[in-house]
Amino acid sequence: MSRPRAARLGVRCPHCDARCVGQRDRRISRVLTEVDYLCTNPDCNHRFVVSVEAVRTIGLSSTPRSDVHIPLSTHIRRGAIAAQISALPPARGADEWPAGQAASDPTGDLFEATG
Ligand SMILES: [Zn+2]
Repeated sequence: MSRPRAARLGVRCPHCDARCVGQRDRRISRVLTEVDYLCTNPDCNHRFVVSVEAVRTIGLSSTPRSDVHIPLSTHIRRGAIAAQISALPPARGADEWPAGQAASDPTGDLFEATG
């Protein structure tokens, strides 16, 4: 059985290449976190700080904040997305569904009241 993907993601020691474990994190900003790492090689024992930064968007947020500006990956076709959004009608509100169907809509309008 293979390990979960998240378990394989990790930081390796810059000195001995052993896996490292995160000890503590500090949120510097909405897009930047620093993490203290410890090398698991007892002969090395290196401790160091890693910066984790959101550097580009590869999938759009459904709850975007106006004060977060993460560049779009070049694979995202801005024009196509803008055209698609402007062409889509708003979703029906729960009170607009025929009786008994509103409960089958798992999302409704969770994020933003319109109009
Ligand atoms: Zn090491």
